[in-house]
Amino acid sequence: MNANAKPLLVIGGGIGGMTAAVDAAEIGYKVILVEKEAYLGGRVMRMHRYFPKMCPPTCGFEINTRRIKQNPRITVHTMATVEEITDEAGDLRAKIRIRPKYVTDMHLIADSMTEKLTTERVNDFNYGMDKTKALYMPHDMAYPPGYVLDREALSETDAEKLNEICPPGAIDLEMTEKRIAVDIGAVIIATGWRPYDATKLDYLGFGQCQNVITNVMMERLAAMGGPTAGEIVRPSDGKKAENIAFVQCAGSRDENHLPYCSAVCCMGSLKQVRYIREKNENAKITVFYIDVRTIGREEKFYYDLLEDENVSFIKGKVAKISEEPGSENLVLDVEDTITRENLHKGFDMVVLATGMVPNTPDFKIPFELKYDDYGFTDGVTNFDGVYTVGCAKRPCDVSRTTKDSTAATLKAIQCLNRGE
Ligand SMILES: Cc1cc2nc3c(=O)[nH]c(=O)nc-3n(C[C@H](O)[C@H](O)[C@H](O)COP(=O)(O)OP(=O)(O)OC[C@H]3O[C@@H](n4cnc5c(N)ncnc54)[C@H](O)[C@@H]3O)c2cc1C
Repeated sequence: MNANAKPLLVIGGGIGGMTAAVDAAEIGYKVILVEKEAYLGGRVMRMHRYFPKMCPPTCGFEINTRRIKQNPRITVHTMATVEEITDEAGDLRAKIRIRPKYVTDMHLIADSMTEKLTTERVNDFNYGMDKTKALYMPHDMAYPPGYVLDREALSETDAEKLNEICPPGAIDLEMTEKRIAVDIGAVIIATGWRPYDATKLDYLGFGQCQNVITNVMMERLAAMGGPTAGEIVRPSDGKKAENIAFVQCAGSRDENHLPYCSAVCCMGSLKQVRYIREKNENAKITVFYIDVRTIGREEKFYYDLLEDENVSFIKGKVAKISEEPGSENLVLDVEDTITRENLHKGFDMVVLATGMVPNTPDFKIPFELKYDDYGFTDGVTNFDGVYTVGCAKRPCDVSRTTKDSTAATLKAIQCLNRGE
């Protein structure tokens, strides 16, 4: 190992980025991990449980954060983005922008203080299904732990109130953003994905019918830390959802939206059917699908559910979702492509299995990378020493993401060792 190796820069602190960071640091390399949110963990932290083992994401996350905390070779910058990467004859250098948290000592702040504020903000962690105070803890297991202040949401009255309710030195409203420049030896891009914007699927009623939700929202509904403390209820009236439809390929494999398959939505929905059936033995579920794409051992998930008499599968692409006149119940129009029947079926709630799109169009990595038509990066990249992993590269599950990360770390450390 080259004792003078420059650090590995990892952009994105989801499961892909965290895996790369611990893999490299545990062999002895320095790592700078840059995450745009206030916490590590990415989208997986917003899942209730994850397949195939169905364990809560906090299990694996806790192990990874312990490995990060204990390793002095890893520097974590949250609320941070990489503004520039320059490559001068193989010498890579990055400029990192770190946004202010306004909280100087999180140990001095308590929930009893935040509750005294009146300004609220939309809780993006719960996909907008509830609100938090302007001074908030992103989620129960947030790492790095600590409160964050949403300065834009904070009213001037509450800004003044903060001085009275928080001990001196806890908050600094004058805090400004910081920029740092670092020399690096290689880069791993792990910027992940976001859900396809379901409001573009107007024929499926999202945004018009309150009881049409998306798959990522269902994860938060099922989670204890979610907006309903784990109760799977209808957004319109808070009643237990008893008759639920899942619409697969909502916008996916569709030339007008996402022509590609997101690879995880079938397993995602089968997992969510399990959440519902475990919480409510009377719930009836219908899954509308084009093909059920479960591969390898994951197929057992599907076969197990075929045994459940409260779960039905109908092959057909849903053409329209509307509200029943005078109620918030939903009606789905779909052709059953096996029986050739045109169905008009009623449900309490509908979950749209929307696909994954890369984060890159919003947060372009400042480096001339090759992107495909949808914004996914080329895995190997056109630059030596720059690698992409996980959902920055293509839609995939956690297991494929972590394997990618370990493989990319191996390639990256070969670059770090150059000049030995
Ligand atoms: C409904 C649904 C359910 C799913 N359930 C499962 C499941 O049960 N099991 C499973 O294996 N997989 C599941 N998946 C897939 C899983 O979410 C992904 O495999 C996983 O999130 C990929 O991790 P990642 O690190 O590549 O991306 P992400 O989880 O998206 O993490 C990327 C990180 O990068 C950060 N970031 C983005 N841009 C920047 C930037 N410019 N600078 C700094 N940071 C940035 C983000 O804030 C984020 O923290 C599911 C997917 C869906 C849609």
